Amino acid sequence: MQLPLAILAVFVLLWGALWGSFLNVVVYRVPAGLSVVHPRSRCPKCEKQITWWQNIPVLSWALLGGRCFYCKTWISVRYPLVESAMAILALAVAWPWLPGLLSGDVLPWQVATGVLFEQYFVFALLAIALIDADTFLVPDSLSLPLPLLGLGLAFAVGGVRDVSWQQAAAGALVGGGGLLAVQWLYAVLTHREGLGTGDVKLLAGIGAFLGVQALPAVLLAASLQGLLFVGAWSVVGRGKLATDRGIASIRHLAMPFGPFLALGAVQWLLLSRIAAKALANWL
Ligand SMILES: [Zn+2]
Repeated sequence: MQLPLAILAVFVLLWGALWGSFLNVVVYRVPAGLSVVHPRSRCPKCEKQITWWQNIPVLSWALLGGRCFYCKTWISVRYPLVESAMAILALAVAWPWLPGLLSGDVLPWQVATGVLFEQYFVFALLAIALIDADTFLVPDSLSLPLPLLGLGLAFAVGGVRDVSWQQAAAGALVGGGGLLAVQWLYAVLTHREGLGTGDVKLLAGIGAFLGVQALPAVLLAASLQGLLFVGAWSVVGRGKLATDRGIASIRHLAMPFGPFLALGAVQWLLLSRIAAKALANWL
């Protein structure tokens, strides 16, 4: 690997860790209806303010041994995990853009726009997945801007990303409208509500960012992995989940679909370009 590329990669990793740190704040505060910018973070137990050196992504958690500096309460391992995951994902998202930037094939503003919007897309998907898994709700403040941002990105650098604004618009309409139709049909047939309206807005956003061509694969990946998860969970943790949700049978288990839609979308974003390139080489 050339030196400029390595330096860029380290910079993007650190940048991604900052995204991850903010992601923890969003996942904690948005469902509670709190501001994400004010006040500064506090220990939920002793309510002492967390200083800058206790707030460095991953590193602080490790240095503090996973405990609050003041009251020694355990800090969930989810915080450094989310920060590491977002750092790695931020780099994975930026990676395909970097060679074009270094060779001058893609203009710097196009790279900046593409990388930032795609990183925000992954950030919002992760936040939605975690909040949906925690609370069974997809917050509008995270899902509603996605279709607009996806369209904006397609307008700005559509040609470079191979997602035209027409594909983005069709993706938003087919994604949102299609899921709305499925939801309506399911409700009519079973007299039960199967999917939340949050999933409709989420899939509209995914369609806008990835284009209409991504939707079949994203839905298939989300459904298969969701089924796998339910299958595995019904073997391993049926008792616990049933008591948690106050339900007697796995058949009536309510599963949030948002995390699996988010997973499928991230997989498409990261893998479709690699797959297309490999296919082109092979043919
Ligand atoms: Zn504390």
